[in-house]
Amino acid sequence: MTYNELKEQENQYVMNTYGRFAIALDHGDGAQLWDVEGKRYIDLTSGIGVCCLGYNNQHIIDAITEQAHKLMHVSNLFTTEPMVQVAKTLVEQTGMGKVFFSNSGAESNEGMIKLARKYSYDKYGEGRAEIVTLYNSFHGRTVTTLKATGQDKFHQYFFPFTEGFAYAKANDMESVKAAVNEHTCAIMMELIQGEGGVMPLDPAFVKEVEAYCREHDLLLLIDEVQTGIGRTGSLFCFQQYGIQPDVVSMAKGLGGGVPIGAVMASKTCETVLGPGTHATTFGGTPMICAAANAVLSEVTKPEFLQSVNEKGEYFKQKLLAMQSDNIQDVRGMGLMVGIVVDPEQRAALVAEIMDKGVLVLTAGTNVIRLLPPLSISYEEIDEALAVMQDVFCK
Ligand code: PLP
Repeated sequence: MTYNELKEQENQYVMNTYGRFAIALDHGDGAQLWDVEGKRYIDLTSGIGVCCLGYNNQHIIDAITEQAHKLMHVSNLFTTEPMVQVAKTLVEQTGMGKVFFSNSGAESNEGMIKLARKYSYDKYGEGRAEIVTLYNSFHGRTVTTLKATGQDKFHQYFFPFTEGFAYAKANDMESVKAAVNEHTCAIMMELIQGEGGVMPLDPAFVKEVEAYCREHDLLLLIDEVQTGIGRTGSLFCFQQYGIQPDVVSMAKGLGGGVPIGAVMASKTCETVLGPGTHATTFGGTPMICAAANAVLSEVTKPEFLQSVNEKGEYFKQKLLAMQSDNIQDVRGMGLMVGIVVDPEQRAALVAEIMDKGVLVLTAGTNVIRLLPPLSISYEEIDEALAVMQDVFCK
């Protein structure tokens, strides 16, 4: 079908919740995608940080295929090896305690919030359930994670939202202290605010929050849905911040293209969610975990993580070297890169870059966000940079 034919049917049958680009994709390979009309693109989106090893990755395809022949799904009423293996790798790589599997970022954050509230309930009883999150954060689209998200525009229409969230300013310890009271049980944050505009938190602030959490027995909840699984040049971003969170949520890159999420708890709270307190039908299902094992076997290699850092640095240096008036700043870590532009110009810049065959994302009001497959080659990066140079420097 052509784009127009597909779009007509989409308009008829699919709910109109997304502002989609006018592109219908057909297939991909490495960091390249082709649309239904045969146009080729360099992809700097990786399905919003999901396809971390690129498209048509033989290792992931083999893992899924092999597992599909054995078992696709059996439910959590039974033990399966791929699920145990993913948990073991995550724990061994991070020093955390135990893992709970879910299906998406928002669902992982729901699990993280439930865990924090139950930890506090078990220890202090009812009434200590508030969670402080940061302004400009993004934690998901469920009724609870919308409220956890510290942006007013997400607190519309769907009333009543889940109670028990307070907000503090990023990089402002006084604001955090002012938001905490005797009802607070946890502080939850992204280390790089992704949807909010690729804003890395100040390491000194993050350390202070950690110390404050320890002092007041608040759980430190880190949302690594976007920053996790090698995206920032370490398996998890918290490892570069030198902190030990109580709970970490993840999703996106973990499955390399298939839906999976997880919550990982430290030893201090790994047993809080006991039998019957939390569950999901598809969580940890074998076929999806086989993909996650294939992803982790690659992404945990030190030389792979080093290559993510090097490619990220290469991107940043080349973008800054363009000395374009259109580029106000370049920030981020690893292959999570934000190009700060004039908000008035952003839509036109993005449209031109896409038209010339490079797919990019946006974030916040003034950022062009790059989340390429972590396996992107230097040839693919150079091709994308040449297009951006054309657009930014004309
Ligand atoms: N948390 C963060 C930091 C995210 O970036 C996202 C999605 O972009 C989510 C949570 C929600 O993840 P999902 O869309 O898989 O529910």
